[in-house]
Parts: sequence; structure tokens; C-alpha cells
Amino acid sequence: MSTTEQRVAVVTGGARGIGAATALRLAADGNKVAVIDLDEAACQSTVQAVKDAGGTALAVGADVSDSAQVEAAVERVVAELGAPTVLVNNAGVLRDNLLFKMSEGDWDTVLNVHLRGSFLMTRACQKHMVDAGYGRVVNLSSSSALGNRGQANYAAAKAGLQGFTKTLAKELGKFGITANSVAPGFVVTDMTAQTAERVGMGFEEFQAAAASQIPVQRVGRPEDIANAVAFFASPDAGFVSGQVLYVAGGPLN
Ligand code: NAD
Repeated sequence: MSTTEQRVAVVTGGARGIGAATALRLAADGNKVAVIDLDEAACQSTVQAVKDAGGTALAVGADVSDSAQVEAAVERVVAELGAPTVLVNNAGVLRDNLLFKMSEGDWDTVLNVHLRGSFLMTRACQKHMVDAGYGRVVNLSSSSALGNRGQANYAAAKAGLQGFTKTLAKELGKFGITANSVAPGFVVTDMTAQTAERVGMGFEEFQAAAASQIPVQRVGRPEDIANAVAFFASPDAGFVSGQVLYVAGGPLN
């Protein structure tokens, strides 16, 4: 690839939050960006923001936990933008509850979106990376991978993604492909707003309580996470693989 040729990056869950910030950042770094989310129309604001900043982006509607939709989405990306060699598995949902109240549906939904979704997306994209002899996979884990009350499903999925990442690094390294994981702490998005609502706190109050426990004394912004993803997604990170970077304003236990 010449230095002027643009790479194609895929960001799942890119309609809002961390995914939207990541799509914008990867576009600013010179990638064409496919923004995948459940609803194609919901991807438009991210796509427009990329275009307004002078970049190239495509909105694609797909449920990452559905293999047929994933295959179709990646085919569309290849046809309209080119073969993807950067993949950010960011799509996510919460179905929090204490274990004794957690339904099988809530377990399956969370495992399906985070783990199965990342598996399906990576499987669909890796052949293009192998063909190119180059690839970057970044999986969104979480501080919850270390265990978090009310999140047995989410913690299991986010810890699972770390094992998935390390295995990808071992299997795909010889094709010029790296795989790394970014594990955010508390970041201000609709997801954390939803958690505040569940625990019966105002979002501002919830953020202040979280910030007081964080060494840098503030909560994270989507751009804080996008900055870390952008490093792993860059050509410069070619000797960094199978790593988990906690981006949480301090160390975690
Ligand atoms: P968010 O809820 O704001 O955005 C998630 C996006 O994923 C939404 O646009 C949603 O529609 C999309 N999505 C959900 N299910 C999907 C599916 N099946 N197929 C395609 N898209 C789907 O969340 P966020 O806070 O921006 O989180 C992004 C990622 O970062 C998630 O993986 C989340 O678990 C992780 N994370 C977030 C935080 C935080 O504090 N916000 C902390 C740690 C990890």
C-alpha cells in the first residue's frame, strides 16, 4: 500500500458514544470509516460529522450478533469503501442485574452482542486483512472484566474479549495483523446514563461520585478512549499485540 492510499476502518456501535468518537478520530487519522450500528439511519450523524471534517464514511445497518447481517455488512463495506484492514469491535449493550435476578435472555443478549458479535465481525474481516498482509483489530473490553456487582453477564463478556484478543494476536500475527484490547473505566455516554437511571441517581450526581474515586478526579470522555484505540489501530503499533490497556484515569485492582 502506498502511503497516500487510505485504509478502510470498520467501527461497530459507531452511531454514538465511544464508537462515534472513534470513527471520527480514525477518519481524522486518514482512514475511510464504515460506521456500523443496529439502525443505518442512526449512523448518519457520525457519518455526517466525518464528512464535515473532510473525511469519507459509510453508514451500514447491521446487528453484529447475526452472522448473515455481518457478512452482508462487510460485503457492502468492501464494495463501497474497499477491503477493511482496521476493525474496532465496540458495539455493546448492558442488561445489568444481580445474579439471582438475571434472566437467561439478559445473559444471552450481552454475550451475543459483545462476544459473538466480535467473533463474527473479526471472522468476516480477517480474510481481507490476511489478503492485505496487514490488519489491526481493537476490541472494547471494560474495567468490569475485573468483576463488577450486577454485571455477571457483562463482566464475563468483557473478560472473554481479553482472551479472544490474545488468541487473535497469536493466530493472526504472522499475517501482519495485530489484536489489542482497550478497557475503559467510567466514560460519559448513554450507557453510563442508563446505569445511573438503574441505580436511581441523577447522571450528574452519578458522574461526580465516580470522579471522586478516580485518581485523575474526573470521568472519561469518549475521546479519551478513541485516543487509545487510535494508537492500536495505527501502523505505528505493529509490534504491540495481544495487550489490554485499561483507560480509566488510574490503575485498577
Ligand atoms: P453506547 O450505548 O453509547 O453505544 C453503544 C452502541 O452500540 C449503540 O449505538 C448501540 O446501538 C450499538 N449496538 C448495540 N447492540 C448492537 C448490535 N447488536 N449490533 C450493532 N450495534 C449495536 O455505549 P458506549 O458507552 O459508547 O460503549 C461502547 C463500548 O465501550 C461498549 O462495548 C461498552 O461495553 C464499552 N465500555 C463502555 C464504558 C463506559 O463507561 N461508557 C466503559 C467500559 C466499556
